Amino acid sequence: MSEQCTSMDELLIDYINGNLSKDDIAVVLQHIACCSDCRREMAQLIQFRNRLQKQSISIPKELKESAFAQIPKVSPDTEFAPMTLSEATAMIRSALNPVQKTIKLAMKLI
Ligand SMILES: [Zn+2]
Repeated sequence: MSEQCTSMDELLIDYINGNLSKDDIAVVLQHIACCSDCRREMAQLIQFRNRLQKQSISIPKELKESAFAQIPKVSPDTEFAPMTLSEATAMIRSALNPVQKTIKLAMKLI
């Protein structure tokens, strides 16, 4: 998997959900035209989404709870520190990592 493939993950989901701009759609189509890994990934995502629309799935409760526990709580007196957009994105990505693992695991289970 190349670095381009890693950045493709989110684009693929947005593509399937119809949330991409024309430019981003071109990027996705160009990439999957020459990358069999991402073609397979996209096929899996579409299949997964179709199944989700038809039925609900079950994942272990602890797994779900641990994934959501990773997202920090914010109280009214939380102090906010200045942060660049890329720092914030990196932080959100790492917080969402367990959620992505949960989804990948769920995909294997169905
Ligand atoms: Zn790829």
